[in-house]
Amino acid sequence: MAVKDKGEFFDELEIMPTEARAKYLNQQLSQTVAHAYHHAPATREIFDKAGVSPEQIRSIKDLEKLPIIRKTDLIERQKKNPPYGGFLTIPLEDIDRVFLSPGPIYEPIQHAGIKWFAKAFWAAGFRKGDVVVNTFTYHLSPAGILFHEAIRDCGATAVPMGTGNTELQIQTMRDLKVTGFVGTPSFLMTLIQRAEEMGYNFRQDFALRRAWFTGEPLAPSLRKTFEGNYQIDTYQAYAVTETGGALAYECRQKSGMHLMDEYVIEVVDPATGKQLGPGEVGEVVVTPVHNKVWGLVRFGTGDLSSYTIEPCPCGRTASRLSGIMGRASDAVKVRGMFVVARQTEQVCFSFAQISRYQIVVRRPEQRDEMTLKVELKGQAAEEEKTKLASALSQKFQDVCRLRPDRIDFVEKGAIPEEQPRIIDERTWE
Ligand SMILES: [Zn+2]
Repeated sequence: MAVKDKGEFFDELEIMPTEARAKYLNQQLSQTVAHAYHHAPATREIFDKAGVSPEQIRSIKDLEKLPIIRKTDLIERQKKNPPYGGFLTIPLEDIDRVFLSPGPIYEPIQHAGIKWFAKAFWAAGFRKGDVVVNTFTYHLSPAGILFHEAIRDCGATAVPMGTGNTELQIQTMRDLKVTGFVGTPSFLMTLIQRAEEMGYNFRQDFALRRAWFTGEPLAPSLRKTFEGNYQIDTYQAYAVTETGGALAYECRQKSGMHLMDEYVIEVVDPATGKQLGPGEVGEVVVTPVHNKVWGLVRFGTGDLSSYTIEPCPCGRTASRLSGIMGRASDAVKVRGMFVVARQTEQVCFSFAQISRYQIVVRRPEQRDEMTLKVELKGQAAEEEKTKLASALSQKFQDVCRLRPDRIDFVEKGAIPEEQPRIIDERTWE
């Protein structure tokens, strides 16, 4: 869809009447399911095993007949049947690009399918004349290039900043008179604080007026700081990399995130897979119905949320997700990146000296902080520990694409055996 001046709405799907939406989504769902069943061997296998034919999936409610596909299933299937685990529905040579998510999970994308992200940026007010830094990584992760293109689809200028080098980011934002920021809330706060340490008055010396966040929840207190102290208008979206991007986005009302019509989104009881009603907290389960490349039907995100069907004053008619309340599984998002328990095992147990470890995620001062606690098999001198810590940190970066903020060597027995590998102690107040 080409961008002209659209006014408030990016596309007509956003303002579909409720019954029309139900009909539209059910139709899209039937087509997607039939296509996936006939082209993706893994999807066919899952349906056959559940004793469900694609013709039986005619409405969103019918999805309850099918099992939920977990991130771990996807990882296992890709490992057994590389590279796409039997979920690819098109010939290999028709893939436009491949992303890599922690797991690892390979995600094939067809270019034609990605335009709709622009809706989320459009609703946040990005327009021609804006200069926007995208501070998500452009390496392997979809957040770099897909958001970049969405910014362009809104007519704004996109600066592919990527992550890292805080001073360079600040200098670029100042030199280019950047008006928009795309990234995580904590990273924007880091940039503002650093700029102030460098002697700038952020409000006066920078042109930044709009920020679009995903990857971590925007704490209400932090939003207040951005909007009140710095006059930066903030918006958040909910994105899931395995299903090709942003699923829900805030409008100017900023009270919940409108669901995108390019996905069928359920909120279910994670134990039973049964769909829950408005206001009930459950796991977000996604079936992309626009990106037919990927035969994922009922992907369990592991994220907990609820939804409301109350009409929104903005005029958009889609239900709204309340925000993400936590994780249902053993993978945890730290500064926008998933840290998967299995990958942390791979890292830590590649060092023979380590007998046990635990990761604790906290959130002091509105920034995720990951501490790695390590128990050693024997005694080690300080010098050895320093060496080991540095090697561990590097290996974490290589495998999980994130470094622990701290590595603590703890006494033998300090980490109880029955405790999980990852403990999430964050609160989002
Ligand atoms: Zn709205």
